[in-house]
Amino acid sequence: MAGVTRYRGPAPRPRLIWQWQDDAACRREDLVLFFGPDGERQPERERRERKAKAICAQCPVRNECLDHALAAPEKSGTWGGLNEEERASERRRRQRRKTPVHVVEVPDDKACGGCETVKPATDFYREPRSSDGLRPECKDCTYEQRSQAEVVAS
Ligand code: SF4
Ligand SMILES: [Zn+2]
Repeated sequence: MAGVTRYRGPAPRPRLIWQWQDDAACRREDLVLFFGPDGERQPERERRERKAKAICAQCPVRNECLDHALAAPEKSGTWGGLNEEERASERRRRQRRKTPVHVVEVPDDKACGGCETVKPATDFYREPRSSDGLRPECKDCTYEQRSQAEVVAS
């Protein structure tokens, strides 16, 4: 929403960040259309937001506006075609997407915790939750453990 610093918000922001606002479709629109009056009822709010979103839909800097509103974050009003709740869920969505998948760097080789022999990583089964991504014992020792367990169980 262009020109919002004159409407609400404690401190004026640096002009540079707001360059996209020069092209904002809402520049000459009534700010109330984007922020709503105090004590607005739900049906009025929905009507008003529909009108605001229709302007956003035609806006050439919609993406810049939305990115700004999400980053700031702007807590109230319609920005980039989204109202408060829609922006909150968009923020969560982007957050989830950004969250890096836990990547474990697998070593080339390591000492087996069973036979204590240094073996290449391919001689170990993968164990995604371990610190090096591999099982502590080599495949041979794992087989041995298993067959021993079977003997005990039988
Ligand atoms: S996307 Fe909507 S609120 Fe943002 S600058 Fe454009 S018209 Fe204004
Ligand atoms: Zn081993």
